[in-house]
Amino acid sequence: MKFVGQFPTYRPRRLRATPALRRLVSETLLNPSQFVLPLFVRSGRKLRNPITAMPGVFQLSPDEIVREATAAYAAGVPAILLFGIPDKKDAKASGAYATNGIVQQTVRLLKKELPELMIITDVCLCEYMEHGHCGIVHQAKGSAKIKNDPTLKLLAQTAASHAEAGADIIAPSDMMDGRVAAIRTQLDKEGFTEIPIMSYAAKFASAFYGPFREVAESTPAFGDRRSYQMDAGNAAEALREVALDIQEGADIVMVKPALAYLDILHRVKTEFGYPTAAYAVSAEHAMIKAAAAKGWIDERAVTLESLLAMRRAGADIIITYAAVDAAKWL
Ligand SMILES: [Zn+2]
Repeated sequence: MKFVGQFPTYRPRRLRATPALRRLVSETLLNPSQFVLPLFVRSGRKLRNPITAMPGVFQLSPDEIVREATAAYAAGVPAILLFGIPDKKDAKASGAYATNGIVQQTVRLLKKELPELMIITDVCLCEYMEHGHCGIVHQAKGSAKIKNDPTLKLLAQTAASHAEAGADIIAPSDMMDGRVAAIRTQLDKEGFTEIPIMSYAAKFASAFYGPFREVAESTPAFGDRRSYQMDAGNAAEALREVALDIQEGADIVMVKPALAYLDILHRVKTEFGYPTAAYAVSAEHAMIKAAAAKGWIDERAVTLESLLAMRRAGADIIITYAAVDAAKWL
């Protein structure tokens, strides 16, 4: 784009004179139809466990999930992203792919009570593993390794069990190599050829996930996730990760976290032109909430501006804990 205007014939302020004029020429719009609300389910009834570092976010029992999802849908949020917290964890994440696992049960219930709601299910093993890692752990000579290829089978099984329960979109977040292909193959084999995959394609090992681990109860018992999640400084590698996922069959690619990674979001959207999602993660939410509670910032204005920035950078879809508030504000 070549800029040819010149002052005083060209005056940018002309188009900023009134709210109507500003809206008319605004390049980026924020609409609730682009929002996805993450929800966390655990067994029980009438259960709403508040999360200290994430005001407004709860661990919910399935009946409460239905209530929360219904309210979100009524506010204009078309989709939820569902995470499960099982009663029991083990070394092979059995709860993740159990026919009657907490996510599978809840998806069936939601499909019955609120069939119009789009349900995206997070596919990972960390919440279901006793050690809290996203893959199978192999202990040898005092060191622990996360085994890639054996993990793929469990992830594929988990994805298929979600689809079988009625999930609309499958969202693998584990960052194992080859998981999208493994999941696509399994879904197709079981007749779910029409179920899209939204892959957490460029997921960085980030300190911004802190509060999430409290709600998902998925803090690793040892080590960290740096052997599978990406290094914060790597942009070219993020593009390779996205390319791989697209080749393996991802329909939507995600960048996570969002606000501190807008450059990645922009490059992913420009480079591939695929439907792109941004995940505004727990600490992004917590920081805004904490500063707003102190009266230091305007919660509404800062939230909407940060979501708008994600859209401007290239996000088609925004996963945010503020989905319902933002939808109401808009
Ligand atoms: Zn995980």
